[in-house]
Amino acid sequence: MRKIACPVCGQDWLRWYRVKDDGLTFLLCPECDSVWLPGQDPSPTARQDLSELLGYPQVHGTEWDLIEPCAAPHD
Ligand SMILES: [Zn+2]
Repeated sequence: MRKIACPVCGQDWLRWYRVKDDGLTFLLCPECDSVWLPGQDPSPTARQDLSELLGYPQVHGTEWDLIEPCAAPHD
C-alpha cells in the first residue's frame, strides 16, 4: 500500500491494525490515535478516535492491548 501521512497530525504514517477480539481492521495513526475504517477516505472530518472505535474506556491497560498490527486488507 502507498504510504499515507496522517492528515490530522502529519507526524506519522497511517498503518493497518485489527481488533484482536473481532478481527475488525482499520487504519490507525499511532501518533494521535486517529482511526479510519476500510473504504473511508482518510480525511480529518471522517476521523474517529481509537477509544471511540473500541466503544469504551479501558479500565485495565490501554486500547493498545486490544489491537495488533496487521497486513493491509485486499479489496
Ligand atoms: Zn496522526
